[in-house]
Amino acid sequence: KMLKMPMPSTDSVKVAVRVRPFSQREKNSGSKCVISMHSRTTTIIQDPKNPEHTKTFTFDLAYWSHNGFQKDKDGVFISADPGGKFAGQKEVFHDLGRGILDSAWQGYNTTLLAYGQTGSGKSYSMIGFGANKGIIPNVCEELFQAIENRDKNQEYQVCIILESDLLSRIKKPGGLRVREDQQLGFYVDGLKSVPCENYAQIERLMEQGAKIRTTASTNMNASSSRSHMIITIQFKQVFLDRDLTKQSSINLVDLAGSERQKSSGSEGDRLREGSRVNLSLTNLGNVISALADAAMGKKVLHVPYRDSVLTKLLQSALGGNSRTTLIAAISPADICYEETLSTLRYAERYD
Ligand code: ADP
Repeated sequence: KMLKMPMPSTDSVKVAVRVRPFSQREKNSGSKCVISMHSRTTTIIQDPKNPEHTKTFTFDLAYWSHNGFQKDKDGVFISADPGGKFAGQKEVFHDLGRGILDSAWQGYNTTLLAYGQTGSGKSYSMIGFGANKGIIPNVCEELFQAIENRDKNQEYQVCIILESDLLSRIKKPGGLRVREDQQLGFYVDGLKSVPCENYAQIERLMEQGAKIRTTASTNMNASSSRSHMIITIQFKQVFLDRDLTKQSSINLVDLAGSERQKSSGSEGDRLREGSRVNLSLTNLGNVISALADAAMGKKVLHVPYRDSVLTKLLQSALGGNSRTTLIAAISPADICYEETLSTLRYAERYD
């Protein structure tokens, strides 16, 4: 493996891995924990008696989210030091969301992506449930709060563009169209940019979006989601006394489940939809990988933005002065070993 040199813009791509607690289903099936974390490293172990099956990855941040461990029958699997950083929603927001807000105030575009198989905790991290608010509500609430407390010599505008079932709605005959504009870059024709003044308005938009978002029932999970959801917060600051305007966009992306189709036994349309999703995830990976290489000072000749709708739309928010954060969401359980390993490998390319 090549030795990578630290480069100036190392914070342009940041990767966090987050392991969720065991699900009831995993507990019921007596599933064992295959993940251990220590500081920034995440280790996945298939068979504790077979050390060559152990793989270790290093990311910028590693989040552990539970105290309890499932014990191996022989007691081998229990780790005296589960390691990792025990993190609830607040800590994750503090580490990832605050930086996004800082960048937005400075006028930089940012993209936060949640990647992982269905049921791995993407929505939990991005949106959250009940009182356990995820990054999106926290970012929005803090942004509106900060606007309220700001100088009256400035004006602010927050607009939301929400696309909750991107690929299907674009592919559909008579559906949405992606267009290119000299100034704006790629955009989805017909998508509305809605001015919002508080998080409750955004929440209502998301609830409407959630209804549209196609949920496909596959063998993996009853509410398996095979579509991407993108929320773009367009933030404009007008400095009245200085005749200056700063504009930035915060792109929050809950990606479609990354699970491969063969394991979920899909057929026909569902399978085609699935392979389209997988292609767009692969392409996104290639784009971020090229950007991470460029940030490391490697020579990058081509960033393949044009290869998928997702990367076309995110082009202005990936690369350049933009900052990208990827959360790789994983299950701790042995029954998810293959998918978890594939998620860790996907995330590894950018580190
Ligand atoms: P995905 O969006 O990847 O399909 P979800 O976010 O819906 O997955 O998570 C699946 C389940 O796991 C949900 O019931 C969720 O509440 C729970 N969960 C996921 N991540 C965490 C976490 N970090 N802490 C507690 N519960 C979690």
